[in-house]
This record gives sequence, C-alpha cells and structure tokens, in this order.
Amino acid sequence: MPARNILVINCGSSSLKFALVNESQDTFPLQGLAERLGSPEAVVQWQIGDTKETRQIPNGAHREALEAILPLAQEVAGGQLDGIGHRVVHGGEDFTASCLIDDAVLEGIRANAQLAPLHNPANLIGIEAAMALFPGLPQVVVFDTAFHQAMPDYAYRYAVPEFLYKEHAVRRYGFHGTSHRFVSKRAAEMLQLPVDDSCWLVAHLGNGCSTCAVVNGESRDTSMGLTPLEGLVMGTRSGDVDPALHIHLTRTLGWTIEQVDNMLTRESGLKGLSGLSNDMRTLHEALESGHAGATLAFEVFCYRLAKSLAGMACALPQVNGLVFTGGIGENSAAVRARTIEHLKVFNFAVDAEANARCTRGVAGQIQAEGSPRILVVPTNEERQIALDTLELLD
Ligand code: ADP
Repeated sequence: MPARNILVINCGSSSLKFALVNESQDTFPLQGLAERLGSPEAVVQWQIGDTKETRQIPNGAHREALEAILPLAQEVAGGQLDGIGHRVVHGGEDFTASCLIDDAVLEGIRANAQLAPLHNPANLIGIEAAMALFPGLPQVVVFDTAFHQAMPDYAYRYAVPEFLYKEHAVRRYGFHGTSHRFVSKRAAEMLQLPVDDSCWLVAHLGNGCSTCAVVNGESRDTSMGLTPLEGLVMGTRSGDVDPALHIHLTRTLGWTIEQVDNMLTRESGLKGLSGLSNDMRTLHEALESGHAGATLAFEVFCYRLAKSLAGMACALPQVNGLVFTGGIGENSAAVRARTIEHLKVFNFAVDAEANARCTRGVAGQIQAEGSPRILVVPTNEERQIALDTLELLD
C-alpha cells in the first residue's frame, strides 16, 4: 500500500491553518495559512518544499479558502488524498477520543459551543465546508480537551456548588491535549520506555501555556481549566489570579465584566507584566539590556511554571522525565534553566551545554548528572491529528 496522505485543518474565526501529512515523510509536503477570511484582503499562503505562493481570494470565507486548498492538496498528494483531520477545541464531556464525523458528532460539537463560543463554531464552519466539497472523503475530529477526560474528579472539579457542574458543565477541562499526548509518547520512545508504563511532567509553552501530568499515556491533571485562561502566565493571558479580582475591579474602577475579561485575556501575561511584548524572543533581547519589565515578566513566568510543575507532581506515582515543548519550551534555554533552578527540591538540574544545544527543532536530554531526566521534545499537533485520522481509517 502506498504511503497515505491526510489533510489537517485548523479553522479559526477568520483564519485557517492547514498541512498535508504523508505518513512516510518527516516534513509536510504542503502547508499554509488562509487569513483575514471574510474581508476584502482575504488571502491563502502556502509552501510546497521551498516554494512559497500566495493567492488573493477577496471576500472569500472558509469555503472559498478550502476551494483553493483542496485541489492543491490533491495535486501534491498525487491524486491520493485519504482523509481530512480537523482540530476542534472543545469536546466537553462528550468526547474522550478522536472520532469519525457523523451527524451525532456534529451535534456534539454544536452542543459544546457554549464552552468555546469563539472556537467551536469556527471549527464547525471548516468541517461543514470540507464535507460539502469532498463528501466522499472520510473526515475525523481531534479535540484539544479529549486527552484530559481521563482526569479524576478530584482534579477536574472546582470547589463551587454542585449544580454548577451537574447542570451547567462548570468544571476543569484542560486544553493542548493533542500536544501533551504527542510529546509524552515521543518522550517514552526517546527513553525506550513503554508509554503505558511511564510518567511525565509536561510543559507546553507557546503563546498559550499549560502543564500536564501524564501517567501511563493518560492525563491525570493539567493547569488549564474551564477555559484556556487558567494556570500559567502566557503571552497575553494572566493565568491564575485571585477570583475576587473581578469584583475588586468592578467596585474600585467600575469595570464591566467584558473589560475585566479583555484585560485578563489580551492585556496581561508577559505583555502586561513587561509593558513591552507578549513575545518571549523580544523579552530575551530586552533582558540583555537590563529592561526591568522584561526581567520581571521572565522571572514571574519561570517561577509560576515551576510552581505549577511542582503541583502536577502530586498526580504522579514517580517521574520518568520532565518534558519541555512549544515555541518557548523548544527554544528558550534561558526559560528552561531558570525554571529548573526553582525545582531543586526534586533534584532537577540542567546541563548547560546540552540545554544550549536543544533549540530549533533539536530534541534531546538536558539534565545534569544525578538529576531526573529533562527532555526537549518538539511538538507536532498536525502529525498527531493525522495519526489519529489514519488510525480511525484503519
Ligand atoms: P502558538 O501557541 O501560537 O503555536 P508557538 O508554540 O509558536 O505559539 O510559541 C510562540 C512563542 O515561542 C513566542 O513567545 C515566541 O517568542 C517563542 N519563541 C519562539 N522562538 C524562540 C526562541 N528562539 N527563543 C525564545 N522564545 C522563542
């Protein structure tokens, strides 16, 4: 059987990321992004090998973007596209794994839209457009939340009245599940351990950041909650604050709930603390010239990350390794080193040379002698979505 090809689609409200994954190739034969969908500036950009191309699709929406992308994917796949894998943000309690799309699945995604009002409707638009254009092609959905459905109730329940959980689905769900699942499996492979008999602390650090405790291939706890705002300091998101901050700002500044929400999700995190940028690279440059805001943002980021990892350790019977991934986790030796300094009580220590070597896609172990293992593992959510799709096709 020739190597199969899966098109992976990640639909946002005005954008659509895509990648063609071939099961026997390490790199994607085609990948790209459609942006500003629905506006006169709507555009699709893609890359095949080293060649980059752009096509304007004025006022084009998701369907028009897919009309441009699907023939491209067919062509690059040599006419043999085997399926489409869609990323969906929220599966609520209805989805504990990836699944082939049918009417019940579409209804389930719709039913959970109240939990992710910005994301699930956008994901659905992409799915419906792809189904209309390629009705004969099997399509699969992969949920950010599904991996964390294995968490025990004492990890996912908030200490609020029970009816809020029972009648209104208020609980911790967690996100980044596809990434946590992919890198913990890779880490087990790297150390030649069976996935179903290994324990990991994982830090996924991108624009959004979360930690996860993975036991025998299952999530036992994670730092994000009902929404992706809970937990760590992120690019523009605050992570944990005192829940009474809302009422405090309403009382003292007269802020509306929308103003508080906007501040916590878009104006906080690294951006809010540094007063400079949400981007860790910019903060690293500013740190070198002694910028006080950048220094504080870096320190708070690393300390809060270490504190979260230490908390996650409660969910593990033992630790086979601590895994760093995501744009910051894969590239910032400084963040890794500073975070590990706060974890001395667990005997974690970094080897400076190995730490410096693991950037730009280089995977490896970075612990000093005598320390529990610390790994840098590049994530690949597109590949995991394609793997799930292939498994369901089988
Ligand atoms: P997303 O969550 O949008 O997928 P990424 O995983 O690409 O984001 O991570 C983006 C973050 O990674 C940004 O804060 C960026 O500054 C950071 N990053 C990327 N490269 C480096 C680097 N060489 N050093 C430090 N931070 C980096």
